[in-house]
Amino acid sequence: MAEKTLDNLFYDTLKDIYYAERKILKGLKKMSKGAQAPELKAAFDKHYEETEGQIERLQQVFEIIGKRAQGKTCDAIEGILAEGEEILEEYAGTDALDAGLISAAQAVEHYEITRYGTLKRWATLLGYDDAARLLDETLQEESKTDESLTALADAKANAKAQGAAA
Ligand code: FE
Ligand code: FE
Ligand code: FE
Repeated sequence: MAEKTLDNLFYDTLKDIYYAERKILKGLKKMSKGAQAPELKAAFDKHYEETEGQIERLQQVFEIIGKRAQGKTCDAIEGILAEGEEILEEYAGTDALDAGLISAAQAVEHYEITRYGTLKRWATLLGYDDAARLLDETLQEESKTDESLTALADAKANAKAQGAAA
């Protein structure tokens, strides 16, 4: 069996997040449709656009390493997005929907943060400095999205779910 190294891990993990980002695009569309508060809808729409840019960045990273842009099934994101769908169905029309959608979306962002954090470090170690910069840009966007979602939960969604005046 051929030896595997950090190069293999980097390429495989890139394929994992490439697959995930394209699924996330569809998930964000559904969550935006479902969101009750206009500011939450706007947050999902904003991140939808950012995600399109993140997919382009990943394509640039594939180019930098001279490999074909290709996805590899990410079971984790399938599961995380399935939980989001569950919230959409089971909490539809309730005061707890937005808080639930925020929690589901934050699970997505946290998955992405682990992936981009790892990929950025591996890119640097492998000498792909331009790739590391691109991956860091996306990492910052994911972190900011996570923080904005926390702010939206704190500002209104959690209190609404709790039954306080919305
Ligand atoms: Fe993303
Ligand atoms: Fe994965
Ligand atoms: Fe994201």
